[in-house]
Amino acid sequence: MKLLTVVGARPQFIKAAAVSRAIRAQAHLGMQEVLLHTGQHYDENMSQVFFDELDIPQPKYNLAISGGTHGAMTGRMLEAVEQVLLQERPDCLLVYGDTNSTLAGALAAAKLHIPVAHVEAGLRSFNMRMPEEVNRILTDRVSSWLFCPSSAAVANLHAEGMSQGVSLVGDVMYDVALYYRERARQQSTVLSRLNVPPGQFVLATCHRAENTDDRMRLSAILKALAEIAVHTPVVLPLHPRTHKLVHDYGLAALLTGLQVTEPLPFLDMVALEQAAQVIFTDSGGVQKEAFFYRVPCITLRDETEWVETVELGWNQLVGAQHEAILAAYGGLKQPEPAVVQPYGAGDAAQQIIRQLTR
Ligand code: UDP
Repeated sequence: MKLLTVVGARPQFIKAAAVSRAIRAQAHLGMQEVLLHTGQHYDENMSQVFFDELDIPQPKYNLAISGGTHGAMTGRMLEAVEQVLLQERPDCLLVYGDTNSTLAGALAAAKLHIPVAHVEAGLRSFNMRMPEEVNRILTDRVSSWLFCPSSAAVANLHAEGMSQGVSLVGDVMYDVALYYRERARQQSTVLSRLNVPPGQFVLATCHRAENTDDRMRLSAILKALAEIAVHTPVVLPLHPRTHKLVHDYGLAALLTGLQVTEPLPFLDMVALEQAAQVIFTDSGGVQKEAFFYRVPCITLRDETEWVETVELGWNQLVGAQHEAILAAYGGLKQPEPAVVQPYGAGDAAQQIIRQLTR
Protein backbone atom coordinates (compact mmCIF):
# COMPACT_ATOMS: atom_id res chain seq x y z
CA MET A 1 0.00 0.00 0.00
CA LYS A 2 1.25 3.44 -0.93
CA LEU A 3 0.31 6.30 1.39
CA LEU A 4 0.77 9.97 0.66
CA THR A 5 1.00 11.96 3.86
CA VAL A 6 0.39 15.72 3.85
CA VAL A 7 1.92 17.72 6.68
CA GLY A 8 2.56 21.43 7.01
CA ALA A 9 2.47 22.66 10.59
CA ARG A 10 4.41 21.93 13.77
CA PRO A 11 1.84 19.72 15.52
CA GLN A 12 1.53 17.63 12.36
CA PHE A 13 5.24 16.89 12.24
CA ILE A 14 5.01 15.62 15.82
CA LYS A 15 2.00 13.39 15.09
CA ALA A 16 3.56 12.16 11.85
CA ALA A 17 6.64 11.06 13.81
CA ALA A 18 4.60 8.34 15.52
CA VAL A 19 2.66 7.15 12.48
CA SER A 20 5.61 7.34 10.12
CA ARG A 21 7.61 5.11 12.46
CA ALA A 22 4.76 2.59 12.48
CA ILE A 23 4.60 2.70 8.66
CA ARG A 24 8.35 2.06 8.37
CA ALA A 25 7.95 -0.96 10.65
CA GLN A 26 5.61 -2.41 7.99
CA ALA A 27 7.91 -1.73 5.03
CA HIS A 28 8.59 -5.47 4.63
CA LEU A 29 4.85 -5.95 4.03
CA GLY A 30 4.85 -3.49 1.16
CA MET A 31 3.85 -0.40 3.15
CA GLN A 32 5.28 2.73 1.57
CA GLU A 33 4.93 6.39 2.58
CA VAL A 34 5.54 9.48 0.47
CA LEU A 35 5.72 12.66 2.56
CA LEU A 36 4.54 16.01 1.28
CA HIS A 37 5.28 19.20 3.24
CA THR A 38 3.07 22.09 2.20
CA GLY A 39 5.48 24.64 3.65
CA GLN A 40 2.82 26.20 5.93
CA HIS A 41 5.38 26.33 8.76
CA TYR A 42 8.81 26.96 7.32
CA ASP A 43 11.07 28.53 9.99
CA GLU A 44 13.92 26.20 10.93
CA ASN A 45 12.67 26.05 14.54
CA MET A 46 9.04 25.43 13.52
CA SER A 47 9.83 22.74 10.95
CA GLN A 48 13.24 21.21 10.17
CA VAL A 49 14.22 20.81 13.81
CA PHE A 50 11.29 18.39 14.27
CA PHE A 51 12.29 16.29 11.25
CA ASP A 52 15.82 16.01 12.64
CA GLU A 53 14.98 15.40 16.27
CA LEU A 54 12.03 13.04 15.74
CA ASP A 55 13.59 11.02 12.89
CA ILE A 56 10.90 11.88 10.37
CA PRO A 57 11.98 11.06 6.79
CA GLN A 58 12.68 14.10 4.62
CA PRO A 59 9.61 15.02 2.56
CA LYS A 60 9.82 14.09 -1.11
CA TYR A 61 7.86 17.25 -1.92
CA ASN A 62 7.95 20.70 -0.35
CA LEU A 63 5.39 23.06 -1.84
CA ALA A 64 6.78 26.13 -0.02
CA ILE A 65 3.28 27.56 0.37
CA SER A 66 2.77 29.76 3.42
CA GLY A 67 1.29 33.10 4.38
CA GLY A 68 -1.55 34.99 2.75
CA THR A 69 -5.21 34.74 3.66
CA HIS A 70 -6.75 31.42 4.60
CA GLY A 71 -8.52 31.17 1.25
CA ALA A 72 -5.43 32.00 -0.79
CA MET A 73 -3.20 29.61 1.16
CA THR A 74 -5.69 26.75 1.02
CA GLY A 75 -6.40 27.34 -2.66
CA ARG A 76 -2.74 27.31 -3.63
CA MET A 77 -2.19 24.14 -1.64
CA LEU A 78 -5.23 22.46 -3.19
CA GLU A 79 -3.90 23.01 -6.69
CA ALA A 80 -0.37 21.92 -5.85
CA VAL A 81 -1.36 18.83 -3.85
CA GLU A 82 -3.59 17.72 -6.72
CA GLN A 83 -0.59 17.74 -9.07
CA VAL A 84 1.39 15.56 -6.70
CA LEU A 85 -1.53 13.15 -6.27
CA LEU A 86 -1.87 12.80 -10.03
CA GLN A 87 1.81 12.01 -10.26
CA GLU A 88 2.08 9.64 -7.29
CA ARG A 89 -1.34 7.94 -7.49
CA PRO A 90 -1.31 6.76 -3.86
CA ASP A 91 -3.79 4.23 -2.48
CA CYS A 92 -4.62 6.56 0.39
CA LEU A 93 -3.99 10.12 1.56
CA LEU A 94 -3.16 10.62 5.22
CA VAL A 95 -3.79 13.94 6.99
CA TYR A 96 -3.54 15.13 10.58
CA GLY A 97 -5.51 17.56 12.67
CA ASP A 98 -7.09 20.75 11.50
CA THR A 99 -4.85 23.12 9.56
CA ASN A 100 -5.24 24.55 6.06
CA SER A 101 -2.79 21.85 4.92
CA THR A 102 -5.17 19.20 6.30
CA LEU A 103 -8.16 20.57 4.42
CA ALA A 104 -6.30 21.20 1.16
CA GLY A 105 -4.89 17.65 1.17
CA ALA A 106 -8.23 16.03 2.00
CA LEU A 107 -10.14 18.01 -0.60
CA ALA A 108 -7.61 17.40 -3.37
CA ALA A 109 -7.70 13.63 -2.72
CA ALA A 110 -11.47 13.38 -2.35
CA LYS A 111 -11.97 15.04 -5.74
CA LEU A 112 -9.65 12.49 -7.33
CA HIS A 113 -11.49 9.65 -5.53
CA ILE A 114 -8.42 8.81 -3.49
CA PRO A 115 -9.57 7.63 -0.04
CA VAL A 116 -8.66 9.99 2.81
CA ALA A 117 -7.55 8.91 6.29
CA HIS A 118 -7.98 11.61 8.92
CA VAL A 119 -5.99 11.25 12.11
CA GLU A 120 -7.57 13.25 14.96
CA ALA A 121 -11.05 13.03 13.51
CA GLY A 122 -14.19 14.09 15.34
CA LEU A 123 -12.80 16.90 17.46
CA ARG A 124 -15.11 19.86 17.83
CA SER A 125 -14.93 23.18 19.63
CA PHE A 126 -18.43 24.11 18.39
CA ASN A 127 -16.99 27.51 17.55
CA MET A 128 -17.22 28.08 13.80
CA ARG A 129 -15.20 31.29 14.09
CA MET A 130 -12.11 29.12 14.60
CA PRO A 131 -10.44 28.38 11.25
CA GLU A 132 -9.49 24.99 12.69
CA GLU A 133 -13.16 24.08 13.30
CA VAL A 134 -14.04 24.68 9.64
CA ASN A 135 -11.03 22.59 8.56
CA ARG A 136 -11.95 19.71 10.89
CA ILE A 137 -15.59 19.48 9.90
CA LEU A 138 -14.89 19.56 6.16
CA THR A 139 -12.00 17.12 6.40
CA ASP A 140 -14.08 14.65 8.40
CA ARG A 141 -16.89 14.91 5.88
CA VAL A 142 -14.70 13.74 2.96
CA SER A 143 -12.70 11.12 4.86
CA SER A 144 -13.08 7.35 4.50
CA TRP A 145 -11.13 6.53 7.65
CA LEU A 146 -11.90 8.69 10.68
CA PHE A 147 -9.38 7.88 13.40
CA CYS A 148 -10.67 9.33 16.64
CA PRO A 149 -8.48 10.10 19.65
CA SER A 150 -11.26 9.94 22.26
CA SER A 151 -14.79 8.61 22.74
CA ALA A 152 -16.03 12.23 22.81
CA ALA A 153 -14.71 12.59 19.24
CA VAL A 154 -16.57 9.41 18.19
CA ALA A 155 -19.76 10.79 19.78
CA ASN A 156 -19.35 14.08 17.89
CA LEU A 157 -19.19 12.23 14.58
CA HIS A 158 -22.18 10.06 15.45
CA ALA A 159 -24.13 13.23 16.32
CA GLU A 160 -23.34 14.52 12.82
CA GLY A 161 -24.62 11.29 11.28
CA MET A 162 -21.21 9.78 10.54
CA SER A 163 -20.47 6.24 11.61
CA GLN A 164 -18.94 4.52 8.59
CA GLY A 165 -15.15 4.40 8.83
CA VAL A 166 -15.19 5.87 12.35
CA SER A 167 -12.90 4.18 14.85
CA LEU A 168 -11.54 4.94 18.28
CA VAL A 169 -7.80 4.36 18.17
CA GLY A 170 -6.55 6.78 20.85
CA ASP A 171 -4.38 9.81 20.43
CA VAL A 172 -1.13 9.60 18.49
CA MET A 173 0.12 12.45 20.69
CA TYR A 174 -0.09 10.05 23.62
CA ASP A 175 2.06 7.56 21.68
CA VAL A 176 4.54 10.38 21.15
CA ALA A 177 4.47 11.42 24.81
CA LEU A 178 5.21 7.89 25.99
CA TYR A 179 8.02 7.51 23.47
CA TYR A 180 9.81 10.79 24.22
CA ARG A 181 9.07 11.63 27.88
CA GLU A 182 12.10 9.83 29.31
CA ARG A 183 14.40 10.80 26.45
CA ALA A 184 13.48 14.46 27.00
CA ARG A 185 14.26 14.22 30.71
CA GLN A 186 17.63 12.67 30.01
CA GLN A 187 18.78 14.55 26.93
CA SER A 188 17.39 18.07 27.23
CA THR A 189 19.50 20.67 29.00
CA VAL A 190 16.81 23.34 28.78
CA LEU A 191 16.19 23.64 32.53
CA SER A 192 19.79 24.50 33.26
CA ARG A 193 20.12 26.69 30.15
CA LEU A 194 17.14 28.76 31.24
CA ASN A 195 18.11 28.42 34.90
CA VAL A 196 14.60 27.47 36.04
CA PRO A 197 14.13 25.23 39.09
CA PRO A 198 11.93 22.13 38.55
CA GLY A 199 8.42 22.61 39.92
CA GLN A 200 8.91 26.33 40.51
CA PHE A 201 8.27 27.95 37.19
CA VAL A 202 5.39 28.59 34.85
CA LEU A 203 5.42 27.51 31.20
CA ALA A 204 3.21 29.44 28.78
CA THR A 205 2.37 29.28 25.07
CA CYS A 206 -0.01 31.45 23.07
CA HIS A 207 -0.68 31.35 19.35
CA ARG A 208 -4.42 30.80 18.64
CA ALA A 209 -5.87 33.41 16.30
CA GLU A 210 -8.67 34.22 18.78
CA ASN A 211 -5.95 35.49 21.18
CA THR A 212 -3.26 36.80 18.86
CA ASP A 213 -5.61 38.59 16.46
CA ASP A 214 -7.33 40.42 19.32
CA ARG A 215 -5.17 43.10 20.96
CA MET A 216 -7.33 43.18 24.11
CA ARG A 217 -7.07 39.44 24.69
CA LEU A 218 -3.36 39.28 23.93
CA SER A 219 -2.53 42.22 26.19
CA ALA A 220 -4.65 40.79 29.05
CA ILE A 221 -2.81 37.45 28.79
CA LEU A 222 0.64 39.05 28.69
CA LYS A 223 -0.21 41.42 31.54
CA ALA A 224 -1.31 38.52 33.75
CA LEU A 225 1.85 36.56 32.90
CA ALA A 226 4.00 39.63 33.62
CA GLU A 227 2.40 39.93 37.08
CA ILE A 228 3.04 36.27 37.85
CA ALA A 229 6.63 36.69 36.67
CA VAL A 230 7.28 39.21 39.44
CA HIS A 231 7.50 36.28 41.89
CA THR A 232 7.71 33.10 39.75
CA PRO A 233 9.74 32.62 36.56
CA VAL A 234 7.54 32.44 33.46
CA VAL A 235 8.99 30.75 30.36
CA LEU A 236 7.27 31.76 27.12
CA PRO A 237 8.45 30.07 23.89
CA LEU A 238 7.05 32.55 21.44
CA HIS A 239 5.31 31.45 18.24
CA PRO A 240 6.43 33.57 15.24
CA ARG A 241 2.90 34.86 14.65
CA THR A 242 2.53 35.96 18.27
CA HIS A 243 5.97 37.54 18.17
CA LYS A 244 5.01 39.63 15.16
CA LEU A 245 1.66 40.74 16.58
CA VAL A 246 3.06 41.62 20.02
CA HIS A 247 5.36 44.05 18.26
CA ASP A 248 2.70 45.31 15.83
CA TYR A 249 0.37 46.06 18.76
CA GLY A 250 3.14 47.84 20.71
CA LEU A 251 2.96 45.30 23.56
CA ALA A 252 6.64 44.32 23.65
CA ALA A 253 7.16 46.03 27.04
CA LEU A 254 4.93 43.37 28.63
CA LEU A 255 7.51 40.73 27.71
CA THR A 256 10.38 42.24 29.65
CA GLY A 257 9.85 40.29 32.89
CA LEU A 258 9.25 36.98 31.08
CA GLN A 259 11.80 34.44 29.90
CA VAL A 260 10.90 34.66 26.25
CA THR A 261 12.52 32.08 23.98
CA GLU A 262 12.38 31.19 20.32
CA PRO A 263 10.02 28.30 19.52
CA LEU A 264 11.69 25.31 21.20
CA PRO A 265 12.71 21.95 19.80
CA PHE A 266 10.37 19.20 20.92
CA LEU A 267 12.57 17.53 23.56
CA ASP A 268 13.20 20.88 25.27
CA MET A 269 9.49 21.60 25.24
CA VAL A 270 8.64 18.21 26.71
CA ALA A 271 11.31 18.60 29.40
CA LEU A 272 9.87 21.99 30.37
CA GLU A 273 6.31 20.68 30.38
CA GLN A 274 7.19 17.83 32.72
CA ALA A 275 8.98 20.14 35.15
CA ALA A 276 6.56 23.08 35.17
CA GLN A 277 4.47 23.99 38.20
CA VAL A 278 1.61 24.90 35.87
CA ILE A 279 1.14 25.42 32.13
CA PHE A 280 -0.79 28.29 30.59
CA THR A 281 -1.70 27.64 26.97
CA ASP A 282 -4.14 28.02 24.12
CA SER A 283 -2.54 25.11 22.23
CA GLY A 284 -4.45 21.89 21.71
CA GLY A 285 -1.35 19.72 21.88
CA VAL A 286 0.08 21.42 24.94
CA GLN A 287 -3.20 21.02 26.90
CA LYS A 288 -2.98 17.29 26.34
CA GLU A 289 0.71 17.03 27.07
CA ALA A 290 0.08 18.80 30.39
CA PHE A 291 -2.47 16.07 31.13
CA PHE A 292 -0.19 13.23 29.96
CA TYR A 293 2.54 14.49 32.30
CA ARG A 294 -0.02 15.29 35.04
CA VAL A 295 0.84 18.97 35.24
CA PRO A 296 -2.08 21.33 35.95
CA CYS A 297 -3.11 23.36 32.92
CA ILE A 298 -4.86 26.73 32.66
CA THR A 299 -6.26 27.13 29.17
CA LEU A 300 -6.48 30.60 27.69
CA ARG A 301 -9.57 29.81 25.65
CA ASP A 302 -13.33 29.82 26.10
CA GLU A 303 -13.79 26.23 24.96
CA THR A 304 -11.70 23.15 24.30
CA GLU A 305 -11.85 20.10 22.07
CA TRP A 306 -10.07 18.11 24.79
CA VAL A 307 -12.98 18.06 27.23
CA GLU A 308 -11.65 15.04 29.16
CA THR A 309 -8.73 17.08 30.52
CA VAL A 310 -11.25 19.50 32.08
CA GLU A 311 -13.65 16.79 33.29
CA LEU A 312 -10.80 14.99 35.07
CA GLY A 313 -9.77 18.20 36.86
CA TRP A 314 -6.39 18.77 35.19
CA ASN A 315 -7.41 21.66 32.96
CA GLN A 316 -9.32 24.88 33.62
CA LEU A 317 -10.80 27.04 30.88
CA VAL A 318 -10.31 30.67 31.83
CA GLY A 319 -10.51 32.56 28.55
CA ALA A 320 -8.35 35.64 28.21
CA GLN A 321 -9.42 37.97 30.99
CA HIS A 322 -6.65 39.30 33.16
CA GLU A 323 -8.53 38.81 36.49
CA ALA A 324 -9.71 35.30 35.56
CA ILE A 325 -6.20 34.20 34.65
CA LEU A 326 -4.75 35.47 37.92
CA ALA A 327 -7.62 34.01 39.95
CA ALA A 328 -7.10 30.59 38.37
CA TYR A 329 -3.40 30.76 39.15
CA GLY A 330 -4.02 31.96 42.73
CA GLY A 331 -6.54 29.20 43.40
CA LEU A 332 -4.48 26.42 41.85
CA LYS A 333 -4.83 23.06 43.62
CA GLN A 334 -3.19 19.75 42.83
CA PRO A 335 -5.91 17.76 41.03
CA GLU A 336 -6.95 14.24 42.04
CA PRO A 337 -4.62 11.67 40.47
CA ALA A 338 -6.43 10.50 37.32
CA VAL A 339 -6.18 6.78 36.76
CA VAL A 340 -8.34 6.67 33.63
CA GLN A 341 -6.61 7.26 30.34
CA PRO A 342 -9.12 8.77 27.92
CA TYR A 343 -6.64 8.95 25.02
CA GLY A 344 -5.95 5.27 24.47
CA ALA A 345 -3.11 2.94 25.34
CA GLY A 346 -0.26 4.58 23.45
CA ASP A 347 -0.68 2.33 20.41
CA ALA A 348 -2.81 4.62 18.24
CA ALA A 349 -0.27 4.63 15.39
CA GLN A 350 -0.16 0.83 15.23
CA GLN A 351 -3.94 0.62 15.29
CA ILE A 352 -4.14 3.13 12.43
CA ILE A 353 -1.74 1.13 10.27
CA ARG A 354 -3.49 -2.13 11.12
CA GLN A 355 -6.80 -0.71 9.98
CA LEU A 356 -5.40 0.85 6.81
CA THR A 357 -3.84 -2.44 5.75
CA ARG A 358 -6.79 -4.63 6.66
N1 UDP B 1 5.82 22.65 20.88
C1 UDP B 1 7.20 22.61 20.70
N2 UDP B 1 7.91 23.76 20.88
C2 UDP B 1 7.32 24.94 21.27
C3 UDP B 1 5.91 24.96 21.44
C4 UDP B 1 5.19 23.80 21.22
O1 UDP B 1 7.79 21.56 20.40
O2 UDP B 1 8.02 25.94 21.41
C5 UDP B 1 5.06 21.41 20.66
C6 UDP B 1 4.22 21.00 21.83
O3 UDP B 1 4.95 20.27 22.77
C7 UDP B 1 3.12 20.20 21.16
C8 UDP B 1 2.97 20.86 19.82
O4 UDP B 1 4.14 21.65 19.61
O5 UDP B 1 3.53 18.86 20.95
C9 UDP B 1 1.76 21.73 19.80
O6 UDP B 1 1.75 22.48 18.64
P1 UDP B 1 1.02 23.88 18.54
O7 UDP B 1 0.83 24.44 19.90
O8 UDP B 1 1.80 24.69 17.56
O9 UDP B 1 -0.35 23.53 17.83
P2 UDP B 1 -1.75 22.97 18.33
O10 UDP B 1 -1.52 21.74 19.13
O11 UDP B 1 -2.43 24.06 19.11
O12 UDP B 1 -2.49 22.69 17.07
